[in-house]
Amino acid sequence: MAVLTPGSLEDALDALALHPDALVLAGGTDLMVEVNEAHRRLTGEETVVAVGRVPELRTWIHDPLEQHVRLGAGVTYAELEAGPLAALLPALAQAARTVGSPQIRSAATIGGNLATCSPAGDGLPVLVALEADVELMGPHGTRTMPAAEFMIGVKRTARRPGELISAVTVPLLDGWQGYAKVGVRNAMVIAIASSCLAVDVPTRSVRLALGSVAPTIVRASAAEAFAVDAVDWDASAVAPDAATRFGELAAAASSPIDDHRATAAYRRRAVEVLARRLLQWAFVGPVGRAR
Ligand SMILES: Cc1cc2nc3c(=O)[nH]c(=O)nc-3n(C[C@H](O)[C@H](O)[C@H](O)COP(=O)(O)OP(=O)(O)OC[C@H]3O[C@@H](n4cnc5c(N)ncnc54)[C@H](O)[C@@H]3O)c2cc1C
Repeated sequence: MAVLTPGSLEDALDALALHPDALVLAGGTDLMVEVNEAHRRLTGEETVVAVGRVPELRTWIHDPLEQHVRLGAGVTYAELEAGPLAALLPALAQAARTVGSPQIRSAATIGGNLATCSPAGDGLPVLVALEADVELMGPHGTRTMPAAEFMIGVKRTARRPGELISAVTVPLLDGWQGYAKVGVRNAMVIAIASSCLAVDVPTRSVRLALGSVAPTIVRASAAEAFAVDAVDWDASAVAPDAATRFGELAAAASSPIDDHRATAAYRRRAVEVLARRLLQWAFVGPVGRAR
């Protein structure tokens, strides 16, 4: 098969314009597993566009005026888990630290996580809770859309043939944010249930996104609306029974299935506990203040 290794974004887009059905290869941590396990059968006629050497995809920019961080699609989980990006996007850093092993995190990219669009993708609830935008470049130009709209189902996205995910723009909120996940063990594990909670103190809003409990990532809007009224914003505190109710509303927003990892009932319960804990961590007085 033909493997193209463009050295610039322009060359990568040209390659995809010529071969719109080409396989895009970033870190290869999903794609190569699919090939090795024969979930994706190759005929040898395919074209692969390997984007690992495209510098524009590997860079990120903090824009303090716009209050966002623009992550190139090729930014890896290793870059997200520590350093300046972790300080700017703490929930994404927390999610990054739970991905695979150090070797996987060195190769795995945020763009690959999005394009694979597994309901268990660890970066994805964070992008949805923070209301990130996905930028796509292709033969017909550049378009952006909310991450929540980009992901349309289990491993199904709004990406069109010939398009490259070029970047993700993540708004910076002013408040506590965190990510939590339940798996069958503590490390090297795919999420059975996951949640990201993000607080924005100036607008007094609470966002909660759930992973692994529906065909794609879901926002728990009833829980979010409940939290806005239930939280004592001046004291930065939440009553235990309100946190419990928040968890129940989160579970009600899920529509999990039974599979080889867990039952639907376990997933619903797990997401209830995760949501309750996240809200308590966000609003526990001096230690975990929302601000
Ligand atoms: C051992 C192991 C453990 C793992 N653990 C976790 C885990 O804990 N949590 C988790 O979320 N994931 C995990 N994964 C899955 C994987 O690491 C992530 O989904 C990762 O983010 C994929 O990124 P990648 O760059 O390797 O993508 P690739 O494998 O290169 O590509 C994945 C898909 O995205 C497409 N693609 C990649 N980049 C682009 C782009 N810029 N534009 C358009 N399409 C693109 C490819 O064509 C392909 O379809 C694990 C994988 C392995 C092998």
